[in-house]
Amino acid sequence: MPAADLVILGGGSGGYACALRAAELGMSVILIDKDKLGGTCLHRGCIPTKALLHAAEVADSARESDAFGVRAIFEGIDMPKVNEYRDGVVGRLYKGLQGLIKSRNVTFVEGAGRLVSPNTVEVNGEQYTGKNVVLATGSYARTLPSLEISGRIMTSDEALNLDYVPERVIVLGGGVIGVEFASVWRSFGADVTIVEGLPRLIPNEDEACSKALERAFRKRGINLSTGIKFASATQDAAGVHATLEDGTTLDADLLLVAVGRGPNAVGMGFEEQGIAMERGWVLVDERLRTNVAGVYAAGDITPGLQLAHRGFQHGIFIAEEIGGLNPLVIADVNIPRVTYCEPEVASVGLTEVEARAKYGDQTKVYEYNLGGNGKSQILGTAGFIKLVSVIDGPVVGVHLVGSRMGEQIGEAQLIVNWEAHPEDIASLIHAHPTQNEAMGEAHLALAGKPLHAHA
Ligand SMILES: Cc1cc2nc3c(=O)[nH]c(=O)nc-3n(C[C@H](O)[C@H](O)[C@H](O)COP(=O)(O)OP(=O)(O)OC[C@H]3O[C@@H](n4cnc5c(N)ncnc54)[C@H](O)[C@@H]3O)c2cc1C
Repeated sequence: MPAADLVILGGGSGGYACALRAAELGMSVILIDKDKLGGTCLHRGCIPTKALLHAAEVADSARESDAFGVRAIFEGIDMPKVNEYRDGVVGRLYKGLQGLIKSRNVTFVEGAGRLVSPNTVEVNGEQYTGKNVVLATGSYARTLPSLEISGRIMTSDEALNLDYVPERVIVLGGGVIGVEFASVWRSFGADVTIVEGLPRLIPNEDEACSKALERAFRKRGINLSTGIKFASATQDAAGVHATLEDGTTLDADLLLVAVGRGPNAVGMGFEEQGIAMERGWVLVDERLRTNVAGVYAAGDITPGLQLAHRGFQHGIFIAEEIGGLNPLVIADVNIPRVTYCEPEVASVGLTEVEARAKYGDQTKVYEYNLGGNGKSQILGTAGFIKLVSVIDGPVVGVHLVGSRMGEQIGEAQLIVNWEAHPEDIASLIHAHPTQNEAMGEAHLALAGKPLHAHA
């Protein structure tokens, strides 16, 4: 029976990060995956979608080139070529990751695994035993009970494999994945309608960000239906036909179901081994321990934000915890979040509503409009930086909207996690002309000394 210090079930962001860090710390590691190393993020999530978004940006640039005095003609999208470019990006990263795993002497086992004792995973009839075990089996795209995924009704998994641009699409769900695909398809020339049952798009974000995104999407010609629930859909040779609860009907070529992702943790022996679970999620304490000694869980199978970088952090955390390094716990609220679309939305820390619930009238909010930022003017983007702070205290939330503003989340997460006060950031220097400069300007204003802004 092969044995190791650590057996990891699932080779996605959480599992492989744990394997790499554990190997770095001198542990022997067996990493098991039934599919390709790299998981959802690399093969069906973050990376392929961001490649599509980049192609979408190139299409928009070509279409809008005249405004910049550049003569170019947008003739259309060659989807097989876009997919080729995307697959090239994924392929190079996949190769690099395989090389990393190999160079750190991690044993990769291909096959579906099942937990058969608290320290043993069985794969293809062989049992692998670890001093510790990490469960990192990720998540799957959910649908609604009445909505079967087939033909014209698809999740992000199938949508990523399309070799054509649909003429008309209904996107069911205005969360991160829904708005991302809506943005890509609109830039590729499709007629897009987003149906979101809650009153606003990206409902987990600060309301000001939702409103700004909705305005920008409407301006781009994306149709929005918010606050009315989806009722049913049928499909035939002519298309897909959806009905909302108020009786509205919508017709399109495709319906993308983007209603969230569920934990991929059922039927793998977890319950049988006594692992505490709730509605399919594996429960962990703040040090990512399950209730069974020696068994940890990482990434999307644990309740909370479903983000690749949370998975990486979980994986590293578990390896260091087992290695006795006492790693730092980061609360989910302080994990940076980026909604990738045009324009981008990014945030870290508390929303204004959350801050007011916690700090009451000690909450102070400042919104810096990108209209005063040179680089944003050059790019032709609108948006803002909204800072949420405590009077005479730290900045507890940063919310960003605008083209490319996701890139600014790096500094924002340092500000919030290091509990910086506005004056700390105001006294530092931000390069001109960058969009990052807007971060400096917002803090100058919040510290009571605005430069290119009104108080
Ligand atoms: C369309 C889309 C876009 C996204 N974009 C972003 C983004 O831009 N940024 C971001 O941070 N996050 C993004 N995400 C989310 C991100 O992909 C996930 O949060 C991340 O992949 C979770 O990592 P994980 O390791 O928990 O799970 P996964 O990456 O899902 O990996 C789990 C692995 O476990 C394997 N597995 C499952 N069951 C078994 C078994 N029984 N035996 C063996 N192996 C098994 C699977 O094959 C898989 O490889 C996106 C997701 C989607 C769907």
